[in-house]
Amino acid sequence: MIDDRENNEYADGYEDAPPGETGETEAPYENGLDDSAPRGMSTGVKVLIGCSVAFGGLVLLSTIAGLFLPVLLKGKNEAERIQCTNHFKIIYPLAHAYAAKKSEFPRDKSVDDPAAHDSLNILLDSEQGRGLEPRFFNCPAGDTEAATADPETGKFVLDENTLDYAWAMKETKAIGRAVPLAACAHHEGIVIVLFTDSHVETWELDDPEVKDKLDEGTGLPRGLGR
Ligand SMILES: [Zn+2]
Repeated sequence: MIDDRENNEYADGYEDAPPGETGETEAPYENGLDDSAPRGMSTGVKVLIGCSVAFGGLVLLSTIAGLFLPVLLKGKNEAERIQCTNHFKIIYPLAHAYAAKKSEFPRDKSVDDPAAHDSLNILLDSEQGRGLEPRFFNCPAGDTEAATADPETGKFVLDENTLDYAWAMKETKAIGRAVPLAACAHHEGIVIVLFTDSHVETWELDDPEVKDKLDEGTGLPRGLGR
């Protein structure tokens, strides 16, 4: 018991002591801080630590961004490929219906190597192609804008500024060996190719076999033009 009290007293005394002592030593210590270098150094250190934390945060953020950006870009590229392929799946049945009636896919026969938009305008002007909308001819990865339709008739005409896709320049039929009918070369590292039998292929540009199937000048599947 005595020991405990003594301990408590000692503890109390010990705890109580600092305020008294502080009272004696506080003023000189504070004065020292106010008037001399230590406080300046302390602020400098704080600024340094703040900068280090901010810099560390930036490094961390850029690292996280570096990790997730490729994933986000991959998702965006994938979405664009799907939408582009969907456009081909919309255009194809109508072009096929045209071919069933006219014995070949739409083609501007007035010149040897017709522009894609001239051939597709023939489809748009036909009974089969009337339901097509301007946006189906713009790739989400491309650089064109949708053609403006006449508000009264709903009709629109394609040109090089409103069409992203390449189209067959020579006679192509829905029967026989499947050959490229249309293509999109706006996606990084690939060309999306629609065939005359309706299937769609993704050609990887770094594949040596694909290089043989592309026109060196245009980078498009042979037989197609824009
Ligand atoms: Zn595309």
